[in-house]
Amino acid sequence: MAEPLQDDPRVAEIAAGLEAVRRRIADAAAAAGRADFPELIVVSKTHPAEDVVALAGLGVRQVGENRDQEARPKAAAVAEALAGAGVPAPAWHFIGQLQTNKAKHVARYASAVHSVDRLDLVDALSRAVVLRREREGADAVSALDCLVQVDVDDRADEDRPEGIGPRGGAAPEDVPELARAIAAADGLRLRGLMCVAPRAVDPAAAFTRLAALSARVRAEHPEADALSMGMSGDLEAAVAAGATHVRVGSDILGARGAVG
Ligand SMILES: *Cc1c(COP(=O)(O)O)cnc(C)c1O
Repeated sequence: MAEPLQDDPRVAEIAAGLEAVRRRIADAAAAAGRADFPELIVVSKTHPAEDVVALAGLGVRQVGENRDQEARPKAAAVAEALAGAGVPAPAWHFIGQLQTNKAKHVARYASAVHSVDRLDLVDALSRAVVLRREREGADAVSALDCLVQVDVDDRADEDRPEGIGPRGGAAPEDVPELARAIAAADGLRLRGLMCVAPRAVDPAAAFTRLAALSARVRAEHPEADALSMGMSGDLEAAVAAGATHVRVGSDILGARGAVG
């Protein structure tokens, strides 16, 4: 099955990008003296469902999306394309700013939300899972993994260079309360923390800050050991700082242009 797939030039291109990124992750893990291999989430935003089908054929089991309007039809198209193909559909990780009124949609196709940044979103996601369980049966709907997105930029708004905005996420001091709310919510499972490195600073400092915060969260919630950090441009620094999940898009699927 993998052989004929690779005849397609787009599939060959994706396979090469995937191979290069997997090697970078392995090299970074080895350089940091880590015996584990951080999980790769391939970010497919702005790229078509066909690319995700190709990724699945190449063994990718985790993909990431940041907009519900785009992710919802894509997840459905991928599921349809892979039905009966003998290739498991990937798990969808939601990694973008999420409006409360979209929580119900996202809870239907996503297995994890990395961008939980406020209490009303915790409530909305919990209600969405509870509702699904009432409709489909408690055993049919697994808990939704949630990560708290943290704003790890320690610059004040006015200290950031012109045109460089915040990356989103909860203030570090609000993280313990959010973590407790997720851990206590029906239908949700607290998995850990996530960040996007601030622009125009050394990402290593930001990743170290998230790792330190994670140690504090784990003191209270030992199961919440996921650290989702690192993208195409900074995955080595993230792996060195202890990332358990890296989210890589453009270095595998190509440049996205102005959107995303
Ligand atoms: C787009 C995106 C990524 C992937 O970024 P690349 O630079 O394309 O690897 C990772 N995380 C989040 C939250 C994103 O929005």
